[in-house]
Amino acid sequence: MNLQPHRDFLTEDVQERFLRYVRVHTTSDRHADTTPSTQRQFDLAHILAGELRDLGLTDVTVTEFGYVIARVPAHDEVNAPPVAFLAHMDTAPDSSGEDVNPRIWENYDGGVLTVGHGIVLDPTEYPDLRDFVGETIITTDGTTLLGADDKAGVAEIMAAVRFLGQHPEYPHPELEIIFTPDEEIGRGVDKLPVTELHSRFAYTMDGGKEGSVEAECFNAYRVHVDIQGYLIHPGSARGKMANAVTIAGRLLAALPQSESPEATDGRYGFYCPVEITGDYGHARIEMIIRDFEIDEVRRRVAYIEKLADALQTANPRARITVTATQQYLNMRDRIAEYPFLLELLTEAITSIGVTPILDPIRGGTDGARLTEMGLPTPNIFAGGLNFHGPAEWIPVRSMVRATETILTILRLWSERVAPDTPLPTVRPEVRA
Ligand SMILES: [Zn+2]
Repeated sequence: MNLQPHRDFLTEDVQERFLRYVRVHTTSDRHADTTPSTQRQFDLAHILAGELRDLGLTDVTVTEFGYVIARVPAHDEVNAPPVAFLAHMDTAPDSSGEDVNPRIWENYDGGVLTVGHGIVLDPTEYPDLRDFVGETIITTDGTTLLGADDKAGVAEIMAAVRFLGQHPEYPHPELEIIFTPDEEIGRGVDKLPVTELHSRFAYTMDGGKEGSVEAECFNAYRVHVDIQGYLIHPGSARGKMANAVTIAGRLLAALPQSESPEATDGRYGFYCPVEITGDYGHARIEMIIRDFEIDEVRRRVAYIEKLADALQTANPRARITVTATQQYLNMRDRIAEYPFLLELLTEAITSIGVTPILDPIRGGTDGARLTEMGLPTPNIFAGGLNFHGPAEWIPVRSMVRATETILTILRLWSERVAPDTPLPTVRPEVRA
């Protein structure tokens, strides 16, 4: 079935949904230890569950942890195994996601978009804009992030479900819809009941620019350095005091600047200090370490441990501890065990007239964690750019192409993935 004649309908539907979903405040909070990290994420979860039921789905659940899980039964004549599509409902805590007031720029003329509040989208700075001359672009009003990451993904999956409801003849396997909380704080699949899912394969709709596909991501570690100082009156501290602030500063200054996010791109990894708190009695540093090769991550963790050791020796009265925790691993090898996952995906994208761009992602997604847990999960573009800040923008056309990609994968999946395809084993114990 050709999707071309349905483009106007899909455009209207996905745009309307997107504009509605971004107005729901769903910022997550990395300092909270509940799931979801913020109760407000339930607001969107309940809206989506209600809309899925209105679209005729009967198997729709909002779990106690804020996950929306819904199922569209397979087309009668399709015996291919089920597949899941995921998107996350939260937005990044780096920028405000409250009172999002999207601006719509129809028939973009290729010039500078003066978004407001000092935010300007200039094609000389953001050349991707040039690919969307004549298209409708949605931006912020300059005061918040937009939330295209990942409400575009949510809107695209919802539009695909609506399309399937209206076209019962369209071939598709059983489709699982999963909307997750807390992806932006790295906990998007922590409480997902993986063993209860019907699917053993999934796709996340959480990538960037139109055409981009990600089946390789960073290996990610978080490193916590705790520095317990030794305090004594500064007037009589000579030879005695261990100043936690000073030690923290030395440690940070010893990180190689050539291995920072500011200095790297492509396949190079980095150290990135993300938070420092405390006073001269007690200080804490949070750092993230990223690299496509796990050995490079281990080398960096070892370097921080060596630095801490050296600072400990120089400040015998301090107590410095380093704790490293794995956040997610590169998904490349596990996805490669099921080549049809990427084959169908690139074929789907090509067939709707878009050139697939297969880039390693300098970040991670729910898909990376899910892949580790036994559901190989490549990531598909949702269409947005400049994520996590007020310069975020998205062309409506990209959301339509993403929706068409979902629908086309479902059709190809029905035709190509054999009912007896060997399935990966679920490993819920991998969950942190
Ligand atoms: Zn995202």
